[in-house]
Amino acid sequence: MLEENGIHTHYIETLNETDMRAKKVTILPLEVIIRNISAGSFAKRYGVEEGIEFKEPTFELSYKNDDLGDPLMNEDHAVALGLVTREQYDEIKKTTLKINELLKDFFHGIGVTLVDFKIEFGTDKDGNILLADEISPDTCRLWDEKTKEKLDKDIFRRDLGNLTEGYQKVLDRIRG
Ligand code: UDP
Repeated sequence: MLEENGIHTHYIETLNETDMRAKKVTILPLEVIIRNISAGSFAKRYGVEEGIEFKEPTFELSYKNDDLGDPLMNEDHAVALGLVTREQYDEIKKTTLKINELLKDFFHGIGVTLVDFKIEFGTDKDGNILLADEISPDTCRLWDEKTKEKLDKDIFRRDLGNLTEGYQKVLDRIRG
């Protein structure tokens, strides 16, 4: 769906239920996060409740480094550390905001609110930047539009019930 809408991704084809073929990329060590509604670490960091709908999405970067606990990072820091050029940063931001619009519409179509998500990008041998990540309830916060029921990894993180059931609900709605 994203490819059809002009997003360049690493995806080539699905081979079977558990495998897919993807283009080889070098992953940029950045966690790129969009938030449409306050939740998780945002709510904690700024001492606000979850569920505040933002007028505009927020774009956020973390440095992907487990030893350092994936610290929050701004554009200048990413450029200073040589992780991306200014041009690459601009492209990543523009692409991510477009992905957000596409995914928000997609999930709205199945009665699900896209609260926030994390994606990663990589560069191919020609230096093109490709979206190179999964998009799933593991990496997105997804709430039922009507009931606000959580259908994502927060079920596990917060011990709210059966994780698989939540994921299955998302899959069932996607499959119609
Ligand atoms: N996220 C992720 N991997 C990470 C960190 C975050 O996929 O290592 C996703 C998470 O599922 C949520 C969004 O990024 O959809 C924002 O997460 P947040 O910063 O609120 O952190 P959390 O509350 O998950 O610790």
